[in-house]
Amino acid sequence: MQHSLKTSLKYTALCTALVAMNPLSHAYAEGKLTVYCSVQNTTCEKVTQAFAKKYNVDAKFIRDSTGIVLGKIKAEKKNPQADVWYGGTLEPHLQAADQGLLEPYRSPLQADVMPQFQPLMTKLNHHISIVYLMELAIGVNTEKLAKLGIQTPKCFADLRDPAFHDQVQYPDPRVSGTGYSFLSTLVQLWGEEKAFDYFQKLHRNVTQYTKSGLATNRLSTGEVAIDISFMHSYVREKDKGAPVKGILPCEGAGYTLGAASIIKGARNPDNAKLFIDWVMSPEAQEIPWRQGDSYQIPTNIHAQPSPKASDPTKLKLIDIDFIRFGSDKESKRLLEKWFEVTKTQSDTPKN
Ligand code: PLP
Repeated sequence: MQHSLKTSLKYTALCTALVAMNPLSHAYAEGKLTVYCSVQNTTCEKVTQAFAKKYNVDAKFIRDSTGIVLGKIKAEKKNPQADVWYGGTLEPHLQAADQGLLEPYRSPLQADVMPQFQPLMTKLNHHISIVYLMELAIGVNTEKLAKLGIQTPKCFADLRDPAFHDQVQYPDPRVSGTGYSFLSTLVQLWGEEKAFDYFQKLHRNVTQYTKSGLATNRLSTGEVAIDISFMHSYVREKDKGAPVKGILPCEGAGYTLGAASIIKGARNPDNAKLFIDWVMSPEAQEIPWRQGDSYQIPTNIHAQPSPKASDPTKLKLIDIDFIRFGSDKESKRLLEKWFEVTKTQSDTPKN
């Protein structure tokens, strides 16, 4: 008896030590988890399913663009319908934190995030984790450009050329995190006056404002010649056989970070924390390319990026002021200004 108690105490101590060493070892979490997900549908599905299986949690996800999820979380403030928000661009997560809609949590795996983002993580005040990196690009349909006899653009600035009339689409920054990243990148690069003058001129060439940076199908089919989104989307389209190429614009690499955060008032807070630990882990960060065709760059230094992903050490990233563009007040002001210059000066039907 004495012996078995001792053995069992030793075993308990060993387990406690292992759990302390490995934050992902809560093998019997159980219970439920609802994820608002703003990455590709397949990634949402595979990452949530793998979590559910690994931790024995009844987990489900609902997918929407980043700006749409932000709106939902705000509308559900008094009665949250989800526990955690996975993916989507950093700025709207910051806007949610600014509005008091997020619960602070810092995963122990934070230590494994790329060193260049550690100072930013400190500024994020424990509300948001960053799980992947993506750089902005111009997507072109090479066949369509050849057919129209238009030269391949090298810069964002080139897209104002009347030759691109009705050939450009980009996501609406009010609903799409990608669209907002495009807006913040140009404001950061050129200052407000020049950036909004650009959006006004570009509007003449825009045929459609899409609802998500992931809506690249009209580019692949050649309905439009130009799209603006993240580079990895064009790599995927090209891989699938579409005559699509991603161009890093001459202005430099605007970028954002894919974020993950816990929603304030989450009904399953322990599982929400466990899920954040999960999406910070190398195993989960490799799922998008190992089990799908999505090549965003993992932020965990121990995660292997897809061989098709850009090499982050070769990207000259523009120094984006995420705290400014993540401010609720500033984002509202910039989005209103964008709406003024894009919606009031043309009859072209755009949705
Ligand atoms: N996360 C990933 C991995 C993406 O590729 C994108 C857009 O391409 C986004 C988030 C942002 O999506 P949205 O523009 O729908 O907010």
